[in-house]
Amino acid sequence: MAPFDDSTEGPMKHFVTSIIAVLAISLPAAAQNPAEREQDRWKLSDLYASPAAFNDDMAKVEQQLAQFGQCKGHLGESAQRLRECFDIQSELYKRFYRMVVFAYETHSEDTGVAASLEQRQRVTVLGSKLSEAGAFVSPEILKVGKARIDGFFRQEPKLAAYRHPLDDILRTAPHTLDDQGEAILAAFSLSSGAADSAFEILTNADMPWNTVKLADGKEVKVDESAYSHYRETENRDDRRRIHEALFSKFKEFERTLGVTYYANLKEDTVYAKVRKYPDSFSRAMDGNNLPLAVYDQLVKTANDTLPTLHRYFKLRGRILGIPDMRYYDISPPIVKGIDRKYPIDEGVQIMLEAVKPLGPEYVAAMTKGIKDRWMDVYPRPRKLSGAHAFGAAYDVHPFLMMNYTENYNSVSTLAHEWGHAMHSYLSNKGQPYPTANYATFVAEIASTANEAFLLEHMLKIAKDDDERLLYLGSALENLRGTFYRQVMLAEFEREAHARVDKGEAMTGEKFTKVYSEIIRKYHGDAQGVVKIDDLYTIDWARIPHFYRSFYVFQYATSISAGSLFAERILKGEPGAREKYLKLLSSGGSDYPYELVKAAGVDLATPDPYRAVATQMDRIMDRIEAILARRGK
Ligand SMILES: [Zn+2]
Repeated sequence: MAPFDDSTEGPMKHFVTSIIAVLAISLPAAAQNPAEREQDRWKLSDLYASPAAFNDDMAKVEQQLAQFGQCKGHLGESAQRLRECFDIQSELYKRFYRMVVFAYETHSEDTGVAASLEQRQRVTVLGSKLSEAGAFVSPEILKVGKARIDGFFRQEPKLAAYRHPLDDILRTAPHTLDDQGEAILAAFSLSSGAADSAFEILTNADMPWNTVKLADGKEVKVDESAYSHYRETENRDDRRRIHEALFSKFKEFERTLGVTYYANLKEDTVYAKVRKYPDSFSRAMDGNNLPLAVYDQLVKTANDTLPTLHRYFKLRGRILGIPDMRYYDISPPIVKGIDRKYPIDEGVQIMLEAVKPLGPEYVAAMTKGIKDRWMDVYPRPRKLSGAHAFGAAYDVHPFLMMNYTENYNSVSTLAHEWGHAMHSYLSNKGQPYPTANYATFVAEIASTANEAFLLEHMLKIAKDDDERLLYLGSALENLRGTFYRQVMLAEFEREAHARVDKGEAMTGEKFTKVYSEIIRKYHGDAQGVVKIDDLYTIDWARIPHFYRSFYVFQYATSISAGSLFAERILKGEPGAREKYLKLLSSGGSDYPYELVKAAGVDLATPDPYRAVATQMDRIMDRIEAILARRGK
C-alpha cells in the first residue's frame, strides 16, 4: 500500500487489495484432521507477543497522527519538510498494517472470539482516521506543482523513495477539481455505495432461497455456497435441479437487481463526467495508469480464440458422455473417484520441488518460511473458510491461512497462496516501505505462475493416466474459469457501462438481453456447443464483483502473464527467470503495466492471451492422447 490515499472515492480499498483470498472451495471445517502439530499453526506472536504490545503500537499511531496533522499546509515549504512528513506518514501506515494483519488473522483463526472482533473494529476505526488525516496530501501536492517537486528531488536525495507515489499524484492533476469541487465530491462520497450494500444484503441475507429434493432424497436449500458445492455433483438431474433452483431465484429478482446494478453504473458515469474522463472505462483504467489497449486486446483475443474454449466444452461432453451439453454440465470434474491423499508434509515437499525452476534462493526462502511457521494449515471449527495470504506486515513476514484437506485441490491452493506470500516477501525485501505494496493488477501473477509450475511437476511424477487426467482436467477448468469466464464478464461490464455513459436507461430485462448475446457467444450456443437456456442469461445478476467496476478482467490478465512467465522459465529461456524474480521484488515501484512489460510480457498485445489458448490446446492434446490410449 502506498502511504497515500490515492482514491478519493474509496478510502478503504487498501483493506481489500492487500488481503488476497481464494474463496472457499472445500466445504465443511469439521473433517477429520491429522493431529495438529505446533508446526501446523502460524506464529502470530511474531507480530505482537502480547496484547500490551499491540496496545502500545495503537498509542504510538495516535501520537504520530498528531505529529502528521502538523504537516497540513506545509508540504511545499521545503524538500526536507516534505520528506519528513512523508516519512511520518509512511511510518504510520507501516505500523498500522502490522496491527491490521494481527487483528485480521487473530480473527481468521477463530472467528468466534468477541475480543478479536472488537480488536478488528478498533483497527477499522483507526484506518478511517488515517485516511481522513491524509486526505489533504494529494490536493496539496497538486498545488505545490510538478516544477517545485522536481526541484525538491534535486535538493533532497532521500525523497527518491517517494518518486513514484508522487508521480502518481501529479499525473492526476487534469482530473482533480478545485477545493470547492473536491469538497463537494468528498461530501457526496458518503452517499455512494448504497447499490453495492443493497446487493450484498439481498444476496447474502434476505434472498428466500429455493429448496430442492435430490435423487437420494436429501433436501438442499440452494444458496450460493450450496450451489458451488452441488453444481459439481455427478448426477445430471441433480445438477439441473440445483442450477434451476438458484437461477430461477435470481430471475425473480431481475427487476430489483437491475435497479441496483444500474445505480452502480450511474455512479461511475457521474464520477467520470465530473473528473473529466471521456467515459467510465477510461477513468477506471486510469486508476492504475493502464493503457486501454490492455482491455481491448484481452477481449479481442479471447474472442478470436473461442474455438479453443469450444473444443474444451466438446471434449468435456465426450468424456462425461453427454452429447447435448447444457450450462449445468460445465462444472463436474472430468475424472471421478480418485482418492489420492497428499498429507501436508508431502504437499509442501511437492510444492518445493515444483518451484525449483525459480532457483535455489527462492526455494530456500520458501523453505524457511514454512519452517518459521508463516502458515496455519488445517481447518478447525470457527476458523475462517477459504484460503488467503496477507503480506502487509512489512518488517515481519507474510502470513498464510489454509484449510488444507489433503486433496489435490489443497495442494494447488497451497502453491497458489505461497505464490502470493513469496511475492510479498520479495517485494518487502526489495523495496523501501513506500513502494513495497504491489497493485491488484499484478497480484495474481505469482500465484498463477506457481500453479503452472505445480502442474508440470505433477505430470512428471504422476503414477498413472487417471492421476494425469486429474491434474490436466483441473488445470483446464482453472484456465476456463480464470480466463474465459472473466473475460466474458468483462465484455458485458464494458458494454453495460458504455450504454449508461451514453445516457441509455437500463433495466434488469435489458441487462439480461445484453448478457444473453455474450454468454451464448462464449458457449457456442449457435454452433451447438453448449446450449444456453434462457434461464441462465440472468447469470449477470449474481456477480458481486460487478460492484467493483472493471475489476474482473485483472484475473484474466494475471493468469495470462503468470502462465507465460512460467512457460518461459520452464523452457529455460535466457534471462526469463531473472526478469521474473525482479518483477516479484519490484512491489509498486512503478506502474504495474510497466513492471510486467519490463519483465518481458506486454499485456497490451495479443501474445500473452494467445498463450493461454495455446496452453489449453496443449493440455487437451495430452488428454486426447490418454483417451486414445484407452481406445475411447
Ligand atoms: Zn490468489
